[in-house]
Amino acid sequence: MRYAAQKGTKDILPAEIYKWHKAERVFAGVCHDFGYEEIRIPTFEQTDLFQRGVGDTTDVVTKEMYTFNDKGGRSITLRPEGTAGVVRSYIENGMASLPSPVRMFYNITAFRYEKMQKGRMREFHQFGLEAFGSEGPSIDAEIISVVDIFFRKMGIKNIALHINSIGCPVCRNKYNEMLKDYFRPHVDTMCEDCRARFEKNPLRMIDCKIDGEKDVVRNAPRLIDHLCDDCRAHFEGLKSRLDAVGIKYEIDPNIVRGLDYYTRTVFEFVSENVGTQGTICGGGRYDGLVENCGGAPTPGIGFAMGVERFLLEAEAQGISFEENDSVKIYLAGMSDAANTKIAKICYDLRLNGIGCETDLMNRSFKAQMKYAGKSGIPYLAVIGDDELASGQVNIKKMEDGTVTPVELDKIADFLTAK
Ligand SMILES: [Zn+2]
Ligand SMILES: [Zn+2]
Repeated sequence: MRYAAQKGTKDILPAEIYKWHKAERVFAGVCHDFGYEEIRIPTFEQTDLFQRGVGDTTDVVTKEMYTFNDKGGRSITLRPEGTAGVVRSYIENGMASLPSPVRMFYNITAFRYEKMQKGRMREFHQFGLEAFGSEGPSIDAEIISVVDIFFRKMGIKNIALHINSIGCPVCRNKYNEMLKDYFRPHVDTMCEDCRARFEKNPLRMIDCKIDGEKDVVRNAPRLIDHLCDDCRAHFEGLKSRLDAVGIKYEIDPNIVRGLDYYTRTVFEFVSENVGTQGTICGGGRYDGLVENCGGAPTPGIGFAMGVERFLLEAEAQGISFEENDSVKIYLAGMSDAANTKIAKICYDLRLNGIGCETDLMNRSFKAQMKYAGKSGIPYLAVIGDDELASGQVNIKKMEDGTVTPVELDKIADFLTAK
């Protein structure tokens, strides 16, 4: 039997994990600088939560969820995104009684049964955050700043911010009626999904992947031109706050987001680089979601970023990631007595937070030197009976070959001073 990773899943190997560690560290650091704290939610929830929280007309819910009955007969779904679980936790744990806004970030795996020809993963990773209790638009601008600063700290360039407002139930219902009148003579020429959307949610016909390029869709009335006064003022407030901090944006009336619970602000960060074009991060306001999931009416906003997508972009841009360099010294032993002493030295170094390696394969001296040379470990010490007798060892700096005599029990001091 020869096993292989399942379609749409991928090992993140030790040789590449340093990239993930850096992105995770920088993202958490930026969130902390804004006062967000991490939440860790379960991998699966009851299916109904996603039907309510993501929207039962979305592709994610209708076509892509990993849903199964557990041994107790409950319908369980592997989370296809993070927001619904965070909302469930916010309500269940009574976080509404905490000082507002309640702000949390996450770093999760998520699961969608994607068509493989799209090159998408079925198990994938997301960074995201959610903020509850503030109507904005200050917080709308704040979460956009989180992404902007994350990209800047990672050294990523040429990512365009697209923003739009999709209004509130008041102006959107009026607009949906207008759209229905507009699409009615054309609906028969559109795809099956659009014919269903025409009845349930005409707004989503605007971003149809099949019909989106047709003139009838391109020339459709735009919601941004039909916002109510409150929604218009909210959008103007967001724009002025982005202007104030110098974050550039384009208004893109075609972003409607695939998820039903969004209100007012929606945004995407899109790569403009040839070869990696596409959305890296998407988010928006969901003022109706907490109530829809059984909580008190509570405004909310959040975003999610595809980590695989982000790392592809970072690599395409030649971003450098520091590899793990915590191992500082290789200790080669020339005798059994030396190896016994080395075991003790290594234990003490590690206890002091200084990484080190020694032979675990019974290699010859020559093979140990070869291993040390290939490993990239910056210092080398060879210990034999002479060193045990004198209590001193020559530590070689691999980079330039310089040698420093150091007492055997002062190796930690020597390396710490470096
Ligand atoms: Zn409105
Ligand atoms: Zn369509």
